[in-house]
Amino acid sequence: MPKGSKNSIAMNRSAIPVDLPTKVYLEITTDCNLDCGMCVRHSWEEPGGSMDARTFNNLLAHIRDTPSIRTVNFSGFGEPTEHPRFFDFLEQVKHAGLTAEVVTNGLNLDEPAARRMVDLRLDKLIVSLDEPRPSENRFFHEVEYHNVDLSKTAFPKADSEPSVHGSLRGLYQMKIFEERSLPEVCVEFVATKRNIHQLPLLRRMGRDLGFASILVTNLVPYTAEMAHDILYDHWTTAAANTKRSPWMPEIDLPRLDLRGPAMPVFEELATSGGRLMVNGENVVGGGMYCRFVNEGFMAITPGGDVTPCLPLLHTYTYFFRNRHRRSKTHRVGNVNHRSLDEIWSDPEYQAFRHRVSEFSFSPCIDCGGCDLRDSNEKDCYNNPFPTCGECLWAAGLVQCP
Ligand code: SF4
Ligand code: SF4
Ligand code: SF4
Repeated sequence: MPKGSKNSIAMNRSAIPVDLPTKVYLEITTDCNLDCGMCVRHSWEEPGGSMDARTFNNLLAHIRDTPSIRTVNFSGFGEPTEHPRFFDFLEQVKHAGLTAEVVTNGLNLDEPAARRMVDLRLDKLIVSLDEPRPSENRFFHEVEYHNVDLSKTAFPKADSEPSVHGSLRGLYQMKIFEERSLPEVCVEFVATKRNIHQLPLLRRMGRDLGFASILVTNLVPYTAEMAHDILYDHWTTAAANTKRSPWMPEIDLPRLDLRGPAMPVFEELATSGGRLMVNGENVVGGGMYCRFVNEGFMAITPGGDVTPCLPLLHTYTYFFRNRHRRSKTHRVGNVNHRSLDEIWSDPEYQAFRHRVSEFSFSPCIDCGGCDLRDSNEKDCYNNPFPTCGECLWAAGLVQCP
């Protein structure tokens, strides 16, 4: 891994070596206008907050000084559009020539908000939509599909209940009438045993609501009850899939019609722990791989603390394989005290990134054999804090936009 240095970062945006920062996940607030049952905020140990203008200005100045950073993703664990200066911050990011992405639950996407997003040329709008059909359980991101006639609806009226479907339809119409391609709209779907059957319906809704892609992620179970809902309690482990061997030869399939007798065979092969390819592409996932570190991402808290990834943004507990695991936040610097360049080049942060890119952690996600997996403080390979051997993101189970 090349050493991070002022010179290594101060380069043209067009050619980016591996170990340079490329994207910032920016949590401008932990406030939210929803209270979803699945939310990590029920498991937090720390107070929330919102980013002040000084911190944002300092951060943006550091980003401007770091040409390898091309993208700012407004997300984290709160609703970015709840921040009173959200559009001001977004405008500044766009004026800096950066790609801007916004992850939202969509409730604030009324006509004026959509107007501003289109006019500012927001690049990507990622809307959380987990439940295409109405439900009483309030576990998922709330949507009001039952109030909406998709053939007619545009933006809901100012005095009516917010409707994410209506707003998406209105944004889609606005883009079509004005021949605009931005923002590209993507839906994020948190899949569980309760809602996975609705994924095909959600895909069909794309033609009415104007989204062209759906990012499906698994649920992080923050409680023992939530662990009953996950879709990966018996998954083929990542480590088992990394190598071919005479004990588990790799199989490369042609394309098949999975509606016939091939389906149960495919299912057995895909869950057996070996590498299964279709036309040369591994369809059961690879080994442990951290996108955040390997692709140069960072995440920033509302107070300006820098962390290596979204999973290390806060301290929380989740429940996996019959045990609680406490994941402690890892802050590597603060943008009000040091530049992003200094933080990125810090020897300890470089050493951590090296451990992650080598993935030299003990394989807790496959083993689960001792109490060390109850936190990310230590592992049996003597790695220092934070240890990533049970990271659900690196295992490919949880995905972020
Ligand atoms: S919209 Fe997101 S941040 Fe808000 S309560 Fe739901 S899961 Fe949590
Ligand atoms: S492996 Fe997981 S916890 Fe470790 S840096 Fe990557 S995303 Fe964060
Ligand atoms: S730290 Fe414990 S759970 Fe993790 S690999 Fe080692 S023995 Fe297994």
